[in-house]
Amino acid sequence: MSIESTNPATGAVVDTFEETSTDELEDRLERASDTFEEWRETPVERRQRLLSNAAEILRENADEYAELMAREMGKPIGQARDEVAKCAWVCDYYAEHAAAFLADETLAGEPDAKTVVAYQPLGPILAIMPWNFPFWQVFRFAAPNLAAGNVGLLKHASNVPGCASAIQDVFEQAGFPEGAFTTLLIGSDEIDAVIADDRVRGVTLTGSDGAGRAVAETAGSELKQSVLELGGSDPFVVLEDAPMDEAVETAVQARLLNSGQSCIAAKRFIVVDDVYDEFVDRFADELDEQVVGDPMDEDTDVGPQAREDLLDELHGQVEETLEAGGECRLGGEPMDRDGAFYPPTVLTDVPDDAPADREELFGPVASVFRVPDEEAAVEKANDTRFGLGASVWTADLERGERVARRFESGLAFVNELVKSDPRLPFGGVKDSGYGRELARDGIREFVNAKTIWVQ
Ligand code: NAP
Repeated sequence: MSIESTNPATGAVVDTFEETSTDELEDRLERASDTFEEWRETPVERRQRLLSNAAEILRENADEYAELMAREMGKPIGQARDEVAKCAWVCDYYAEHAAAFLADETLAGEPDAKTVVAYQPLGPILAIMPWNFPFWQVFRFAAPNLAAGNVGLLKHASNVPGCASAIQDVFEQAGFPEGAFTTLLIGSDEIDAVIADDRVRGVTLTGSDGAGRAVAETAGSELKQSVLELGGSDPFVVLEDAPMDEAVETAVQARLLNSGQSCIAAKRFIVVDDVYDEFVDRFADELDEQVVGDPMDEDTDVGPQAREDLLDELHGQVEETLEAGGECRLGGEPMDRDGAFYPPTVLTDVPDDAPADREELFGPVASVFRVPDEEAAVEKANDTRFGLGASVWTADLERGERVARRFESGLAFVNELVKSDPRLPFGGVKDSGYGRELARDGIREFVNAKTIWVQ
């Protein structure tokens, strides 16, 4: 069986890859397991050095990897280069901090004996990853886990097999032992068997909540540690004293990053009555100015959606929202050109329970809600099954922090774009998943926090 990757800007086949056969899968699992025994004993300083090498390789080949992303899933080339740079950053970050994060801890109030908590690796960890940040999502998992002494098995999204192979290559070139990071080109129907395999000690999934539920069920029945980074419908709350220039500029960025296909994109813009008209007018005008086009063109702000079926799904959600009584202020129809292009779109007067209110819209579609005041804004922001990120815009920073603390989300930002940063824990609550990636929390997810008592 072979897997094809297709350029969503043109519909042309980019490349064809052989799926991992059953025998190869067995070999790779066995190698991962064998390599773990050696890797767990490798001093953390060496693991850190190899991560620094990986950062160098990423920087050296940034153009090649960026072009691969642009071709396989349509990411605008400038954003793709930024993504590679961020991957190098997360490798450098753990190359610098892993040893400190993994150092034994002596606890206060200990008994009359030597007692420490030691952080030891678990084994091969399966990472099931999405196509939207095809390098970043993987490095966000791989850098802390390889530093911790685990080994990685990657099942990437089926439309980015080239990225999956290139990432394995980065680690091989960096000098990691064979089996430390292995790509499995398999379908999601083979995942359950891999999770259940005795050699695999944990699983992390970044993707939709449907996939998360399926993986969590299997991981639960196998009693294996899991981390889930799922979808979001982040609120972007604009209060009456918001710095409007920054709020509008960031709103555009927050909705259109990665052509609207980001879990932490702002999706529901919740604006108090006093400034609603001004915000909607300026926001729609700015969105209308953005350049939609060829992802390989440096001037492009918004590329194609990653697959035709995803564009159809997005448009279906827009149509259903309009049928339910929503208004379309901008965009709202697939573009009349080849490729999976959808224009920046603004929906207003979205009724409760319409798809744009209840579901995640994974594309360049903004829903704007009018609310009377701060209290109603917080209530609307939290009236969702998701809980990934949230932001609030106000001139009063104390007020902003108060509101931020009330958001039911894993991440809350005041006067700033919701973003991931290697130095800060990242993850969600509610249907956006559980567990944390990045920072110290991220490197401690797939470790045995072992209590050692020496009398
Ligand atoms: P997806 O369809 O859920 O796929 C994600 C990964 O899961 C892919 O590798 C996919 O493989 C696999 N998969 C799908 N169904 C599965 C199942 N039943 N069992 C096991 N694996 C399964 O999501 P996507 O369309 O690639 O990504 C978009 C979603 O990811 C959005 O909801 C977005 O918000 C979320 N996301 C979350 C974060 C975060 O950090 N919280 C970051 C980025 C994206 P196949 O491709 O082979 O189907």
